[in-house]
Amino acid sequence: MIAGGTGFDNGLSGTYSSKCAGCAGNLTYDTSIGALVCHQCGKVYDSQSMEETGSFGLAFREKEYAEGEPVDTEDLDKVEYVCDSCGAQIITDKRTTATFCSFCGSPTLISRRLTRQFKPDMIIPFKIDKERAMDLYDEFVSSAKSVPKDFRSAKVRERLSGIYMPVWLVGADCITDVTASGKRKDGDMVYSHDLSRVISYSLADVPFTGSGKMSQRLLEAVEPFDLTEAVEFNTSLLQGFYAYKYDNLPERMIDKIEERFNIYGEEFGKNGFDGLYEVRSDNYITALRRVNVRYCMVPVWFMCYEYEGLYYHFVINGQTGEVCGRLPEKDSFFARIVKKAGKFTPALVSAGVAVLLMFPAWLFLRELYPEDPELFWMYLLITLSVIFGASFIIVYKFAYISYVRRQLAKESEKNPHELDRRPPVEQYLVYDGKIEMENRDRFGAAMKVTGDMNNRNYHFF
Ligand SMILES: [Zn+2]
Ligand SMILES: [Zn+2]
Repeated sequence: MIAGGTGFDNGLSGTYSSKCAGCAGNLTYDTSIGALVCHQCGKVYDSQSMEETGSFGLAFREKEYAEGEPVDTEDLDKVEYVCDSCGAQIITDKRTTATFCSFCGSPTLISRRLTRQFKPDMIIPFKIDKERAMDLYDEFVSSAKSVPKDFRSAKVRERLSGIYMPVWLVGADCITDVTASGKRKDGDMVYSHDLSRVISYSLADVPFTGSGKMSQRLLEAVEPFDLTEAVEFNTSLLQGFYAYKYDNLPERMIDKIEERFNIYGEEFGKNGFDGLYEVRSDNYITALRRVNVRYCMVPVWFMCYEYEGLYYHFVINGQTGEVCGRLPEKDSFFARIVKKAGKFTPALVSAGVAVLLMFPAWLFLRELYPEDPELFWMYLLITLSVIFGASFIIVYKFAYISYVRRQLAKESEKNPHELDRRPPVEQYLVYDGKIEMENRDRFGAAMKVTGDMNNRNYHFF
C-alpha cells in the first residue's frame, strides 16, 4: 500500500521521514484512516503522492493574547470569567455577569479581559428560553422515580445555565471496506458467499465536543443540531448566556474522531446487507479523505449538581429541547437493607418478624401452660421456628426474588434519557453527494440440507 515505506508493511503506525508542508511537524502513518497525518496541525496527506487530502485542523486558529498585548477591538465587548475552583473558562458579553460557575457551582469567579481571540465560524442561537428549560427539567425529574429531594428544589432548577458549547463539526469522504461471510437459505439449499464491498459516501458536520466540561457522550445524547439555523457569530447573541472556551483542538482528538467515523462506517456497511444474508465474521475498515472541520457554538441548557460526592449532569439541547441527564435514585427502605445485608436479607428480615411476633406468642403460650415451664419453652421454640420459617419463605419468594428481578429488569431496560445514544449514520450522511457501492461478493459454496433438524446432512456441490 505504501511505496517504499519502512515499518509500515506490518500495518503498524510509525513516523514517516517526511515533514508536514504546513508546519514542518513529523508525519505519522495512521492505519485507521489510511493516510499520513500531522498531529501538530492536523493536515492529512496521501501516503503515496504526498498530496494534502484534508485537515483535522481549523482553517482559522484563534490567537492567544500575550500578557499586556492589547485585545483586538472586536473582542473588547466580551469578558472572560475563570472559576477559581474548577478552572472553567467562560466568555460572555460585557453586559452579562456571571455569579456562579455553571459547571461546579462555585461562586468564586474572577473576571478578566480575553486571553484568546474568540472567533467561532458560526453559532446556533438559543430557541428554548429558561422558562421552557426549567419546565423540561421538571418533566425530566418527575419522569424519574424516587429522586432525592434536592433535585426537586427550585434552588437546583434555577441553576440551569444557557451555555454555548464549542463543537467541531467534522466532515469527510469515507471509504468503508467490508469483508464478511454470508449465508443465504433457499428452500433446502444453503448458499455461502464471501462478501466484499467497498462503499464510498460522505459524512458532514459530525459534532465533537471541544470543551472538556462537556463529555462527548452528553453531546451525542442531545444531538442533532439543525445547522440550517446557524448564523455568523456576533457578541450580542451572548447576552444573558455564556460560552465555554474550547480546551481541546480537533487535531488533538483525531483518535476520537476516527472512532466515531469507524462506528458509522460499520453501521453503513451493515445496512448494505439488506437482511439477505446471515452475516458472520464481518469486518469494517473506514478510510477518510478530504477531512474538514468547522468551529461552531451550539446552545445547551446545562446543569451540574454535586450530590453525595458525585457530579450529576443535566443537558437540554437549546435548539430542539432534547433532554439528557442522569439523576441519582433514592433507595427505598428495603433497597437499603438489601444493599447492606446482601443475600442474607430474607433471613434477617424474617428473624426480625419472628422476634416481633414472639411477644404475643409468649403471652398466648403462658396462658395455655401456666404450670408447665418445660412444655411452655418447648412450644415457644417451635412457634418461633414456624414463624421464622414461614416468614422466610414469604419474604424470600415474594419480596426478595421480585426485588432482585426488578433490579435486573431496570438495568436491562433502556432509560429514555440514557446517555449512550447517538444519532444514526443517516443523520450525517450527505444525500446529494456520491454514494457508491462496489460489490465484489463471491459465491462460495452451495449445500443441500437433508434429514430432520437434529440430524442434518450437508452435501457439498
Ligand atoms: Zn503540520
Ligand atoms: Zn467551576
